[in-house]
Amino acid sequence: NEMYAKDISRKVRSTKKLLAQEGKFANSRAPYGYRKSKEDKHKLIIDENVSRIVEYIFEKYLEGNTGRAIADNLNRKKVPTPNNYYYQSMNKPNPYIRDKNQWSSGTIINIIKNPVYYGAIANCKRKVKSFKNKDIVYLPKEQWVVVENMHQPIITKEQWETAQKINVNNKHEGLKRRCNGEMNIFSGLLKCADCGANMIFNTKHYKSYTKEYYRCSTYMNKGKTACTHHSIDYNIVYQAVMDDIRKYAVLSEKDEDKLIDMLLEIQADFQSKNISKYEENIRKTKNRIREIEGLIQSSFEEKISGNISDMIFRCVSEKYEKEYEEQRKKLSYLETEYESCRSAKNDISGWLKKVKLCCETNNLTRELLVSLIDHIDISEAHEENGEKSFDISITYTFGQQNAEGKTYALMA
Ligand SMILES: [Zn+2]
Repeated sequence: NEMYAKDISRKVRSTKKLLAQEGKFANSRAPYGYRKSKEDKHKLIIDENVSRIVEYIFEKYLEGNTGRAIADNLNRKKVPTPNNYYYQSMNKPNPYIRDKNQWSSGTIINIIKNPVYYGAIANCKRKVKSFKNKDIVYLPKEQWVVVENMHQPIITKEQWETAQKINVNNKHEGLKRRCNGEMNIFSGLLKCADCGANMIFNTKHYKSYTKEYYRCSTYMNKGKTACTHHSIDYNIVYQAVMDDIRKYAVLSEKDEDKLIDMLLEIQADFQSKNISKYEENIRKTKNRIREIEGLIQSSFEEKISGNISDMIFRCVSEKYEKEYEEQRKKLSYLETEYESCRSAKNDISGWLKKVKLCCETNNLTRELLVSLIDHIDISEAHEENGEKSFDISITYTFGQQNAEGKTYALMA
């Protein structure tokens, strides 16, 4: 009987996997914003009743609002939650009492993370452990099966990708608001030039004014033996970034073709460096996997010849198997990253368009920043003749550092 159950369980799983590889929608319920086509239940069509809410969520998120803030807003507007909406449209009571009519930060982030909204189907995001143990395990992103262009998108792929970057950056410290209620738009982008850790936003209130600044998180958490404070004012960072972006706009006004050629060259160079980094890493991981295979094999032989006890063998092989699993996962992650790095074509003219937008509006937004800039390294302040300056080194998404290619020093 167990054999039978095991077999059925395996069949259901492999059918799901097959549907997933073809990019077919294999879940019983359509994701919020879509419904299943009546003609083909594996096909999704836009649900016009609520697709506007999905657009709104992405729009607000790209502007720099947190999941929490967006959820609060939807709750205030009394928008039914995805669960509530689903059961309402089925004319059934919502069994998730806890969820009654409350959006949570988690609901929003799940929507943000779902590639379904740019037209892709990601299946096999989780699996049941086994036919006996029905616990659900969530698989890492690298193991998802994603197939693009499966149905009409609600947002663009570019918007989705920017939202993922924002999500990663927000994880470092959430998104603290500034004193005036505006977004702290650099969250997750600023790194300490000396220890590589994230810089964290802080405020300090004085009698006549409030200081808004970033400082090294290593220094904050482990004190001055680990790193120095690297404290830098919010406005100084803002101005330095704006100035540097403006330089690109000026260069492009002078001779756009020349600038694009230069940027393409830099990008190719950056890409080839990254590719060799991945190749090196993949080679090392493969070697380690072969090593572990050898170790497992020889401990097995030791057991057979009676040199080690069963118990020792079990301990040893368990340890190796665990590392083996980890290394395999690492390898598959590296290989996907390597592939996407090789196929990445950063859209340079799109990038320049955004640069110009920053300058025209004289405004940096979270969305523009995250899609223009990979990270910004902040040095400790230098002091000379009583004047303070910092090195602010901006790495743009295609690999170029500051316009004019040199480190930017700033007087404060
Ligand atoms: Zn540091």
